Amino acid sequence: MEKYLSQLNEAQLEPTIQKDGPMIIIAGAGSGKTRVLTYRIAYLMSLGVDPFNILALTFTNKAAREMKDRIATIVGASEAKNLWMGTFHSVFAKILRSEADKLGYPSNFTIYDTQDSDRLIASIIKEMNLDKDIYKYKQVRSRISSYKNSLITVRAYFQNPELKEADAMARRPKMGDIYKEYVERCFKAGAMDFDDLLLKTNELLTRFPDVLMKYQNRFKYILVDEYQDTNHSQYLIVRALSDRFQNICVVGDDAQSIYAFRGANINNILNFQKDYDEVKVFRLEQNYRSTKNIVNAANSIIDKNQTKLEKVVWTANDEGNKIIVNRSLTDGDEGRFVASTIWDNKMQHQLKNSDFAVLYRTNAQSRAIEDALRKRDIPYRIYGGLSFYQRKEIKDVLSYLRLVINPADEEALKRIINFPPRGIGQTTIDKLIVSANGYKRTIFEVMKNIDKTDVKVNSGTKTKLQDFVTLIESYQVLNQTADVFELAEHVTRTSGLIREFNKDGTPEGVTRMENIEELLNGMKDFVEGQKEVADTTGSLAEFLEDVALATDIDADKGDPDHVALMTIHLAKGLEFPYVFIVGLEEDLFPSAMSMNTRSELEEERRLFYVALTRAEKQAYLTYALSRYRWGKLIDSEPSRFIEEIDEQYLENITPIEERRFNPMLDADIFGDVEPNKIRFKETKQPIFKKGTTPNKESEKFQVTTPKNLKPLSKTNGSANLFDNKLVVGNLVKHLRFGTGRVTKIEGVGADTKAEINFENGGVKKLLLRFAKLEVI
Ligand code: ATP
Ligand code: MG
Repeated sequence: MEKYLSQLNEAQLEPTIQKDGPMIIIAGAGSGKTRVLTYRIAYLMSLGVDPFNILALTFTNKAAREMKDRIATIVGASEAKNLWMGTFHSVFAKILRSEADKLGYPSNFTIYDTQDSDRLIASIIKEMNLDKDIYKYKQVRSRISSYKNSLITVRAYFQNPELKEADAMARRPKMGDIYKEYVERCFKAGAMDFDDLLLKTNELLTRFPDVLMKYQNRFKYILVDEYQDTNHSQYLIVRALSDRFQNICVVGDDAQSIYAFRGANINNILNFQKDYDEVKVFRLEQNYRSTKNIVNAANSIIDKNQTKLEKVVWTANDEGNKIIVNRSLTDGDEGRFVASTIWDNKMQHQLKNSDFAVLYRTNAQSRAIEDALRKRDIPYRIYGGLSFYQRKEIKDVLSYLRLVINPADEEALKRIINFPPRGIGQTTIDKLIVSANGYKRTIFEVMKNIDKTDVKVNSGTKTKLQDFVTLIESYQVLNQTADVFELAEHVTRTSGLIREFNKDGTPEGVTRMENIEELLNGMKDFVEGQKEVADTTGSLAEFLEDVALATDIDADKGDPDHVALMTIHLAKGLEFPYVFIVGLEEDLFPSAMSMNTRSELEEERRLFYVALTRAEKQAYLTYALSRYRWGKLIDSEPSRFIEEIDEQYLENITPIEERRFNPMLDADIFGDVEPNKIRFKETKQPIFKKGTTPNKESEKFQVTTPKNLKPLSKTNGSANLFDNKLVVGNLVKHLRFGTGRVTKIEGVGADTKAEINFENGGVKKLLLRFAKLEVI
């Protein structure tokens, strides 16, 4: 342990070895908050604290896994395994499962994901004959979500005339009725939505003092990362659980609070000192992540916010390069700039794809970036899009499995009762729903006892309904002996799903089949993995729970070497050597919806702070002068956030792509400098004047050649083969990869690439204008 503690600076060491009592670490980005939490857990264990008594709550499951892995290297894997670690949702789903009966839920309860909730709400709106343009299901869902996160139950709602009034004012007087019906339907279906996992935990802890005591005694030490983004419901859980021992350690950064729109309450961090007695407050000031330029630029941004805790963040790291600001004409050009910059950097510095991240404000922005990356064959992965488990074919398979363990699950049933098609029409399904609602029974029960109900269907349909019931029941029997993989494999074959997806032979069908195969692979993994884990049974219920709570960022599938594309919200806590923040335009970032109040604008600014502080070595800020939004080409202005950064940390460049728009630059005046090193320096400064769009025609550019440029043919003694003749079969030598043989040449001129099979490095494709190769 000593060895590990020496990897902390003094300010970090102090909170790490402060064993007992309430404490808070408030510190800026990259200062080692997460590192302190991790080492602190290892330290507690080294003092003999039982890992079963430690609860650590993280923002993603991935973060929890990384923390656990790190702790395992310090204290040993078998000990680390027993820690309670995960997101609020995953930890409390587990606890709810073992206490479900107290709340009237089956322990096999289903977790409805957002899609399930949306479908149910849409269905309720339709059943109630409400106008779906006024009652937009997504808005209704987010309203219900905010009630739940503020612990406003249906009963509390109806007891509070102000709430009713507010909804009536918003032209949605039936909001309460929808809420009530939604809650009842979830309950009847044995289902909890994401917000229920917190709401029901709170209910459990307040209604059952013995349960509260049990978990207070279990979790003697509680640690929370990213505390600034906890909502009220999460706050109350932490508060209740830590009340007895008060060994609570939270870390956070008020400047990174970016989830207010989802109910996160920054006051949780600001008021922490009032909530507990004798709170120890720690501050960390040294940033280990980023260059001086990045840290200072980020500081200069957050300085503009009025609501903030004063903090110092500095770094002993190198000055680093200035932050590069790039203007493009269109979003397409912006994408090309990102792709070509990644390409050039990779080639010049021999980097991996995973050294790069592209961050954006809205998911829709990824398309232009993706197109450009694909054109250059740069592997990328989008995080936070439709998660793997939410794809249609995957949800179809999972719905069968959900019904196996919980036949009351209404959304699963509706999804597959007639998929693959088995002749059960919508009219029949509607009759079943009406009857189920009338008898206060589940749809499955109505189907099972169809003769005893008022549902009128012909005998053919009746047989089809019974066949479906029998099918599901046969799976239930199999589930008693088979593992998750075996069951799912059987289900996909016998339900007709595989036949259905196979039959069309379209590329989509093939992709769906591949995805199902991937799902089965994952199950196999799960079954194998469970054999080693102490506190799990490897049951189907457990698998489905993992799946329901998996976010896309948790499951790193496929080739790990990819450029990461994600929204800034998802990037919290992560770090990458090279970071692009794209779409820095007014009305996009800051978002048009955030300009009404100072506090909304300040949240956008914090979001920008989060984005910038993800970068270790180099940050790029890009914007386009026009962009397709909602199908229209719209002119845009540079974001005020660029202007807010102290100029000394920025370098403005205009990419080579704009050259074609400027006749003056079309002449071949570059000589033999490497094309990507040419910077166009504006003579007309500054370009960021708000309210004016730079006039492309009249702008004058002056070509400057950076001092460190050398003529191509004399780079570091080794020949740069861009314009030399290299042929397949040549034996070449590379500084890092050693000797290799050229196996393929493709492209022409500046784009000429050679595929080389290196003795040490395997097959590599190198861009000749950068690769430092020597023919031997
Ligand atoms: P964020 O606010 O973005 O979540 P953080 O405060 O949690 O950041 P960490 O992620 O813990 O910061 O640390 C940032 C980086 O600095 C990590 O790569 C971490 O390993 C490294 N680091 C932290 N402390 C030290 C140290 N004392 N010596 C060397 N590296 C450190
Ligand atoms: Mg962190």
